[in-house]
Amino acid sequence: MSSKKSKTNPCPICKAKTQKDSNPNFPFCSERCKLIDLGAWLGGDYKIPNKPGLDFDELEEN
Ligand SMILES: [Zn+2]
Repeated sequence: MSSKKSKTNPCPICKAKTQKDSNPNFPFCSERCKLIDLGAWLGGDYKIPNKPGLDFDELEEN
């Protein structure tokens, strides 16, 4: 019988193996990597493209 319960994943930031069961920061290995990822978002590395020209005022013409 296999007793492999804990899932192991590489951290998306530093690729260190991290376990889901014992890690509140999963899928990150640590809070540090979690913050790095968050910083990347805030720093604009993953810019979400917004749609220019979409104006709700214009959609609701009477
Ligand atoms: Zn990491």
